[in-house]
Amino acid sequence: MHMKDGVLAEFTTPEFRNLVAQCIHCGLCLQACPTYDVFGTEMDSPRGRIALMRAASDGRLNGNELHQVFARHINLCLACLACQTACPSGVQYARLIEITKIALERRRRQGLIERVVRWIGLRQAMPHVDQLKALARLLWLYQASGLQHLVRRLNILPAGPLRAAEAILPPILPRKRDYSRPAPAFGKRRGKVAFFYGCIQEAFLGAVNEATIRVLQRNGFEVHFPAGQTCCGAAQLHIGEEALARDLARRNIEAFLADDFDAIIVNAGGCGATLKDEYVGLFRDDPDYAAQARAFSAKVKDISEFLAENLREQPRGIVSLRATYADSCHLRHAQKIVRQPRSLLRLIPGLDLVELRQPDRCCGSAGVYNIVHWETADQVLATKMADIAATGAEVIVITNTGCHMQLNAGVQKAGLNARVMHLVELLELSYQRGEL
Ligand code: SF4
Ligand code: SF4
Repeated sequence: MHMKDGVLAEFTTPEFRNLVAQCIHCGLCLQACPTYDVFGTEMDSPRGRIALMRAASDGRLNGNELHQVFARHINLCLACLACQTACPSGVQYARLIEITKIALERRRRQGLIERVVRWIGLRQAMPHVDQLKALARLLWLYQASGLQHLVRRLNILPAGPLRAAEAILPPILPRKRDYSRPAPAFGKRRGKVAFFYGCIQEAFLGAVNEATIRVLQRNGFEVHFPAGQTCCGAAQLHIGEEALARDLARRNIEAFLADDFDAIIVNAGGCGATLKDEYVGLFRDDPDYAAQARAFSAKVKDISEFLAENLREQPRGIVSLRATYADSCHLRHAQKIVRQPRSLLRLIPGLDLVELRQPDRCCGSAGVYNIVHWETADQVLATKMADIAATGAEVIVITNTGCHMQLNAGVQKAGLNARVMHLVELLELSYQRGEL
């Protein structure tokens, strides 16, 4: 551990000190913060967390306080970045919370169970999509056999992380897709793109990936699936496994730069933010990879961003549904993609798009937050579901894997008569109906 006078080395760098100094304590970010909304306490607001970071940087927290008070309030941050958007001073909260969480995680003692769960989840399952798919098949059996229904009906699982994980399990649909060959463009070929199909999305929400591929094909793009691609590494990076995240990033960069694609398409806001923003930072000091990381990240496009620029086929089929769009935090606050998903939805004939009162409010998913901090996540979700219920929406449109799973669970908990669909699933539905 690199400590000077009891201060963690990460908090004494000029970068960290400058980032902290940008906050002028105005408090304009407070109302945007979901955890401030839940707890109403300054230390669970962005301003309070930055004050704690400043105290840590100045050496005003002793070791005990650092690991108890400081870590508790930092860990309760969803890293949703709503405060960054709200801040008039341009505080780069994303970088601040990343440095802080990684510094604390590196030094946190993990129990045996946590070490095993991490090893299985982060090292064995997520980087190996075939293993995740095998797990998804088992869980499909759990659902298809009626066991899930029984478990939920009898409320067998004790309140805690296991019940929280079970609650977000989406309905799993068996699917076959051959990734060894590109999917051809429909009609005149306009270009070739590479598809980043992800890990959880691919194993548990395969219909979203199918719709993404079809919509790209319909718009004249040949879709390639570079072999060797793997999980984006976001979950690993955000809980302090930087070396593993860098290894995954290197594998993705090599896989996707092996051919000259027009774009690298991603359909999950969280993964997209990592591929665009974090990879460059991961290789900042690596002369062998820095340029490649920049070249890779420059090609990454969220599907909504890409389609807004490249739509050739208008969706013509009528979809007479009332819908609302729940922004993905990492699409809206990190990638600044706000207009594009809405403009695509407005092209769908018959779709009645109703805005949420707080469309930019996090749903409480936030990586594994909804499992680790399930009680707080449940409160954040309840606020989101009340906002959704007030719109009377029959479809909740999302653009991120975590939101998809969390809002599915929210619909169940709130007893709403609504379904969660990715933007591309709705577009594909309209295309299909237009063919009839
Ligand atoms: S990232 Fe989200 S939860 Fe964390 S301080 Fe900012 S607004 Fe609050
Ligand atoms: S983070 Fe920005 S908005 Fe929040 S208190 Fe600091 S300067 Fe004000």
